[in-house]
Order: sequence, then structure tokens, then C-alpha cells
Amino acid sequence: MKRYSAFAIAREALRHHTGWERAWASPAPRKRYKVIIVGAGGHGLATAYYLGKNHGITDVAVIEKGWLGGGNTGRNTTIIRSNYLQDSSAAIYEKARALYEDLSQELNYNVMFSPRGVMMLAQTEHEVRGYLRTAHANALQGVETEFVGPDRVKELCPIINIDGPRYPVLGALWQPRGGTARHDAVAWGYARACSAMGMHIIQQCEVTGVRSEGGRVTGVETTKGEIGCDSLGIVVAGHSGVLAEMAGFRLPIESVALQALVSEPIKPCMDVVVMANTVHGYMSQSDKGEMVIGGGADGYNNYTQRGSFHHIEETVRALVETFPMISRLKMLRQWGGIVDMTGDRSPIISPTPLGGCYINCGWGTGGFKAIPGSGWAMAEMMAKGAPGPLCAEFGLERFREGRFIDESVAAGVAH
Ligand SMILES: Cc1cc2nc3c(=O)[nH]c(=O)nc-3n(C[C@H](O)[C@H](O)[C@H](O)COP(=O)(O)OP(=O)(O)OC[C@H]3O[C@@H](n4cnc5c(N)ncnc54)[C@H](O)[C@@H]3O)c2cc1C
Repeated sequence: MKRYSAFAIAREALRHHTGWERAWASPAPRKRYKVIIVGAGGHGLATAYYLGKNHGITDVAVIEKGWLGGGNTGRNTTIIRSNYLQDSSAAIYEKARALYEDLSQELNYNVMFSPRGVMMLAQTEHEVRGYLRTAHANALQGVETEFVGPDRVKELCPIINIDGPRYPVLGALWQPRGGTARHDAVAWGYARACSAMGMHIIQQCEVTGVRSEGGRVTGVETTKGEIGCDSLGIVVAGHSGVLAEMAGFRLPIESVALQALVSEPIKPCMDVVVMANTVHGYMSQSDKGEMVIGGGADGYNNYTQRGSFHHIEETVRALVETFPMISRLKMLRQWGGIVDMTGDRSPIISPTPLGGCYINCGWGTGGFKAIPGSGWAMAEMMAKGAPGPLCAEFGLERFREGRFIDESVAAGVAH
């Protein structure tokens, strides 16, 4: 793989850009791989990458039914933070956030990580108490957050109206090294690095069945034929229940559409990410100037990857009180993605009842921020055959044993 650098750009400029190679190869599938990962979203690609980088396993195929990064990874609002309440959550999200810090250098691909700071507004007394508790927990976990008062909120984000008639801003949980990254670049960067290690990324290839013998996975059936493997990683977000059924087990997951929208581009007016969970809306400004606005999840299970008009109205109505200036903006685009929700709003990274088959799902409305940490933990589990410390608490058995990792405050509506 040719390295991207200022020197390479200058050299190619002199050659009229004829020397660039494709970022990743598109090989035909082989008959067999050591490891197959289903789903070329961020989590699947990161799993493959860390299998190669941390464990030297490169006989890997990542199989994707559409195009890589075309699932939730390319549809999310890109908020990165690690201010979760429970220790196991804070550990994996902070691992991911820390890996994001130099992911561009690591992958030699600009993922545009922008640690501009994330603010979760407290607009009721209940939220003030909740976020104070999270700030204390984060201090013990080594996650840098702080509860700030309304004046500091106004200073950090002047376009906020802190004296709203229904929900005045009472403070905020502030994470100064939270931020955003370019979503599809994360998928592209990992894909390029995987391809450079000799892994196969097979797009437009749907997995339609899971083959097993004597309680152990032996391969998958796909629209491009049967492919054998020693171990299988299922990393398909909203379609996890479908793949689990193929593998012969059930998951405590519900799939719903989550929606977002962007405005027309405007001059820079906001250089932090703000989440207003009481009214439920959150907003940041993209590098192009668009206001990126996250909305709610549908109230019923579905697999429709599109937005709906009532969500735009509800989300924008909720935000206008806190950000009056957006009432004069035109909205440009809306979309939806299928998110995989668990009852405790925490992910599942786990072996499954089928030997050699592992699952990574349940990231729900907030898994983009976790991609590097999740891939790291999933790769460790697949390489060693058992969960490592980062994901030990996120096993499937917690639902049977009642050991929930309750993140409904951090992740129930937030992203
Ligand atoms: C509107 C919206 C806003 C969000 N905002 C944020 C945010 O601000 N911050 C944050 O941290 N998270 C956010 N999220 C959540 C985040 O996007 C997801 O948790 C994360 O992207 C999941 O990544 P993934 O790799 O698991 O899934 P995906 O990116 O969905 O990848 C799964 C892949 O599996 C493929 N697949 C499915 N079935 C098959 C099959 N049978 N065969 C082969 N391939 C298959 C799909 O085509 C897909 O490409 C948001 C989500 C949405 C929808």
C-alpha cells in the first residue's frame, strides 16, 4: 500500500494523479478463510483490522451485503464521547476515544477526528443530579469530564438560549476531549488498512445462512456461494437478530429506525457538540457548515432505512427553544438507520451458543464512538476464544443472570 503523505500528493500532482492505486481491493471470495466477519461497518472492519494488527491473523474475509460503511456507520451523527456511568462502559468507550486521538496517523488515513468538546445539557433538576453523579463516576474512572454551570455553557456555545421558558439550562456535563470524526472515513481507513494486510473485503455479497457441524460453525452461505471458516464474527448492527436466527440462537435485541437531518450550510456558529436530552435533540456543525441534527428513534420495530416527517417536526420543535436561531434555517436532507437496542442500552460482545461464532451488536443509538475499542475487544475475543477484560461484562449471559449494565441515562436517548 502506498503511503498517503504531502510528498505523495506533490509527486502525483506532477504525474496528473495517474499513480494512485485503489484504496482497497475487490477480490472474488476464496473457498475458505480462517476468520469470516459478517458486516463491513465500522465495528466489523475494526475487528478485522485489530485481528491482523494485534494478533497476526490476516486470513480474514469481511463480507458485506451492500457497500462498506453503507449501514449505520455512514448514517450517524458522529458524536464521540466516553462519559458513561458504569465502569465497564466507561472503560470501553474511553479506550475507543483514546484510540480515535491518533487513528488518522495509525491508519495513514484522515478520519478527521475533531475533539471539539461535547456538552450534555441539564435542563431539569433530575438531570443535574444525574450528570453530577456521572461526573463523579467519571473522575473515579479516569475519564475527563466536568459539570459546568449555565454561564460556562453560554461561554462555550453562545447560540444557546439558557433562559428557555420551559427548560432553562441549569448546567451541563462537559467532556472537553469528546467530539466528532468523519464517519465514512473511519470505515474507509480501516478497510484500506485491512486490504493492505491481505484481507478480503467482499462487497455486494449477502450472507444468507450459517453452516455448522457438531455444534461448531463451519462456514456461511452467501449470494456468491458457500465460504468455509474456522470462526465467524457477526457484526451487523440492526440485522443481528436475522443473522442470529441463521446461526440458531435468539438475541435480546429490538431493531428500530433512528433518524437524523442536516440543514443548509451556514457560517461557523458552533464549535462544540451539544446534546439536549430532556427535549431530545442534539446538534453539531459539520466542516461544510451544515447543522447536523439528531432526532429520535421510531416507537415501533422496523427495518426501514429512511426518515419520516413527524420526526423532523418533533426534533426541530424541541431544539428551537434552546437554539432559537435554527428556526430560520432550511433543512436539506433527512435519513434513517436501523439501530440494535438492548434492554439495558449496553452492547453485546460475546461468544454465542454456536461454537466458534461470536457476536458484536447492541450498540443501539451510540456505537460510532465505540468503533476502535469495540473492534479491539472483539478481535481479542476471537483470537483467544474467550472475552478479554474490555468486554468481559458485555456477554450474552448477563440477560439470563440479570447482571444488566444500565446505561439508560447515558445511552437511552443520547448518541
Ligand atoms: C441516525 C443515526 C445517528 C447516530 N448517531 C450516532 C452518534 O452521534 N454517535 C455514535 O456513537 N453513534 C451514533 N449512531 C449509532 C452508530 O451509527 C452505530 O451504533 C454504529 O455505526 C454501528 O456500526 P456497525 O459497524 O455495528 O453497523 P453498520 O455500520 O450498520 O454495519 C453493519 C453492516 O452489516 C451489513 N449486513 C447486514 N446484514 C448482512 C448480511 N446478511 N450479510 C452481509 N452483510 C450484512 C450491513 O449492510 C451493514 O453495512 C447513530 C445511528 C443512526 C442511525
